[in-house]
Amino acid sequence: MRKDYFRDYYTFVTKKDKQKLEEVLSSQSGDYESCPFCLGSEKLNPVEITRITKGSHWQVRVFPNPNPLTAEVKEEPKSPWKHEKTESYEEIIVDTPNHFQRTHQLEIGELKILLGVIKERVKEVRGKDKVEYVSVFQNCGFWSGATDRHSHFQLVAFAKTPPKIKEKIHQSSHGSCVYCHIVSQEENSPRKVLENNSFLAFCPWAPEQTHELWIAPKKHLRNLNDLSDRDMLALAEIFKGSLEAVNRICDDYSVIFNIGPEGENFHFHIEIFPYYNERYYGNLKIREGYYFVTNTPEQSAKIYRGEA
Ligand SMILES: [Zn+2]
Ligand SMILES: [Zn+2]
Repeated sequence: MRKDYFRDYYTFVTKKDKQKLEEVLSSQSGDYESCPFCLGSEKLNPVEITRITKGSHWQVRVFPNPNPLTAEVKEEPKSPWKHEKTESYEEIIVDTPNHFQRTHQLEIGELKILLGVIKERVKEVRGKDKVEYVSVFQNCGFWSGATDRHSHFQLVAFAKTPPKIKEKIHQSSHGSCVYCHIVSQEENSPRKVLENNSFLAFCPWAPEQTHELWIAPKKHLRNLNDLSDRDMLALAEIFKGSLEAVNRICDDYSVIFNIGPEGENFHFHIEIFPYYNERYYGNLKIREGYYFVTNTPEQSAKIYRGEA
């Protein structure tokens, strides 16, 4: 990976197959003849890490990512700038055997099982040599950059903690936790979308993207290992409710699990970024660290709550 001129930011020059736009569009439109994630296509991903079965078939299936994001093109750059060889490791977690089912359509019990699989995979992968951070995310729909329509999550293990996570560790662990404070304030705000005994879902005060939604535990829980069985059920419930709300307004979104790295003080949370404006307002993005949204987070929360 290449390091930024002076900031602690990095760029991978990936050799991930560049799919043609037509291929991506045909996958997104439901051409599932050759979908490698479908029930019956297991032979296309022969090395299986784990599976959870339900009745006569699998419900969740995990295998190494055959087309990893972090596999870099070989290069020997001769330049004064920093280039590091990095080791990474990637898995695909397919959350449904059904090509057309989306995560929010799973039953609460199935979602709890999925979250349990994510928890176990993160725990095992972070125990591997040279793994400092395990990222788990889901991209849905064309505008998220997803190349497969079939619902799945991705796990990527990095040898270094990414810069945004370092910032989040700092916010969670220096003095009193910023996230504990945010949750206690947003619990009674017009930005609240959903809550249960353990979790709050809300639209953040200053979102980066229109209709951005966060899910955070009310208690200071560092990672999925800190969650009791009851908390896992509560997370499955609020995750389903939040994804249902997002799916009502937008098919394209990314879900990011911010999970505390081993030994770090952290406040676990999930961020959901809908690509609501992408196709119309791509020009709302500037890169200097200012963001533009077309709805206030209070309006977004109202829409999510079904009141607007
Ligand atoms: Zn499929
Ligand atoms: Zn906290």
